[in-house]
Amino acid sequence: DMSGEHHSFEADVSRLLHMMVHSVYSDKDVFLRELISNAADACEKLRYEAITTPGLNAGDGESRIRLTLDEEGRRLTLEDNGIGMSRAELIDALGTIARSGTRAFMERLQSGKPARAAEERESEGGKSEGDTAQLIGQFGVGFYSCFMVADRVDVISRRAGTDEAWIWSSDGKGSFDIRPAELSDAPTRGTRITLQLMEEAKTYASRWTVERIIKAQSGHVPVPIELVEKPGEEPKRLTDGTALWTRSRSEISQDDYNDFYRGLSGQYDTPALTLHYRAEGRVEYTALAFVPTVAPFDLFDPDRKGRMKLYVKRVFITDDADILPRYLRFVRGLVDTADLPLNLSREMIQESPVLQVIKKGVTNRVLQALEKQLANARSDYETLWSTFGGVIKEGIYEDFERREQLLALSLFKTTASGEGLRTLEDYVKDAKEGQDAIYYISGAQLDQIKASPQLEGFRARGIEVLLLTDSVDSFWAMNAPSFKEKSFRSITQGAADLKRFSLPDSAEGADKDVDKTAAADGFIGLAKTILAQEVSDVRASDRLTESAVCLVAPEDGYDRQLEKILQGAGR
Ligand code: ADP
Ligand code: MG
Repeated sequence: DMSGEHHSFEADVSRLLHMMVHSVYSDKDVFLRELISNAADACEKLRYEAITTPGLNAGDGESRIRLTLDEEGRRLTLEDNGIGMSRAELIDALGTIARSGTRAFMERLQSGKPARAAEERESEGGKSEGDTAQLIGQFGVGFYSCFMVADRVDVISRRAGTDEAWIWSSDGKGSFDIRPAELSDAPTRGTRITLQLMEEAKTYASRWTVERIIKAQSGHVPVPIELVEKPGEEPKRLTDGTALWTRSRSEISQDDYNDFYRGLSGQYDTPALTLHYRAEGRVEYTALAFVPTVAPFDLFDPDRKGRMKLYVKRVFITDDADILPRYLRFVRGLVDTADLPLNLSREMIQESPVLQVIKKGVTNRVLQALEKQLANARSDYETLWSTFGGVIKEGIYEDFERREQLLALSLFKTTASGEGLRTLEDYVKDAKEGQDAIYYISGAQLDQIKASPQLEGFRARGIEVLLLTDSVDSFWAMNAPSFKEKSFRSITQGAADLKRFSLPDSAEGADKDVDKTAAADGFIGLAKTILAQEVSDVRASDRLTESAVCLVAPEDGYDRQLEKILQGAGR
């Protein structure tokens, strides 16, 4: 079909575009980073496909991204010689929302919830212009962000290895057109995107603005970026496209790392931890990994996927290799190795023993970096922990081998922590003489569990109790056998057995002597009879000092909080 076709955008795209156009988001520069990152992705895809189809990157040799400015015409053009898009790919990629990040962005806007950063998780705020702007900044929203600055966008593309080219064009108002293009008007391979800039966005056709943004945002894109100042002039190189991770650490500044991290993660924060090393020995590889400051949008997605990228000899292979365990899925970064064959399929790579060695090595190094921060920069680590601790704790029941190590990395609110957080090391160090258990209480709300009558006897005796409020807590606590030979024990379950620990004399009215007197026995007998349908046992307890009674779960059953979670899950 050689005639043009008119398509409506998917409803969600229309709404997204409407938001883009009317966005009050001041930092519109991000559109350029999004387009450049797509162009770089396209070049990496071509390199990968060319491994199995060598003819694919023939002709127009080395990958590059070229920006052409036309100040008078108020136009900005971006061209790459990457994989390109067929007609169907154009319609699919630029007419729907395929991108999971963009989908999550839309959902977040609809629910009115701001980002899921720890400190914001509790805030109730409805959606406002400010939230939208903040979200655009946090997510970047891909290709469609160019409609923040352009009132018309033309995308002309030729898929590598094909003999046809297509033009996609839209004014961002609900529909797009697609029609065939002359091969002579199209790049020999790849994609050219022309933005007709809005009057108020004409600065994006000026050299000064574009150079500044590229240096600030895209300096470490692994494909060289060139600039043509006026149509017809010679291109000038802005960045050389060398892979940052191949350089030695001493040559790289933290700013370089931060910039690279932002390009890689699609986030705009500064990493809380940067880890860059070269492993030598049986398997050689380079790893560059970052722990973000702000929680990635997909942190609690059900598939719990990680985003570490795998490169073989600088060719991007996949970000689906599960290089790190799920409980470290917030880490962003890459591994590059020469010890895997380039032409191995993605599935075969998964099975490779070389990859197993790499996985183990990178996991150890990330955990060591966390340990180091805990030891040397406690308050930074506490901040990191409050964002990612809930995820790391999943490892306590998933990664048996590293359980003790992960427990040692965990921080807790406890009855003794005050405003801060405590490690289990702290807990064990301050435990009472003869105390063989680590006591905990779990519940959904901190205030609520702090007021539990079950805590009274522990407080009165100065025995520290962990206050667990993350939903993963009940799962690992039930499974964790011990830390430094002390087992975990729920204080809402089974007998408390606190008599061994003396009460200070000042504890007035405390049950110093709960020996079963005849009167107590009589009362207990009566209570058992009356409550026979409701409870399985009634007994005297030294758990309480002020309250008359409390409920506990049986020794061999589930802890009370876990029971509630399981009931909620329909079990
Ligand atoms: P994402 O990059 O996260 O997939 P985008 O909205 O930025 O989301 O882009 C959507 C899709 O459009 C990409 O996944 C890709 O398939 C396609 N695309 C965009 N730009 C290019 C390009 N320059 N070359 C090839 N494909 C592209
Ligand atoms: Mg993109």
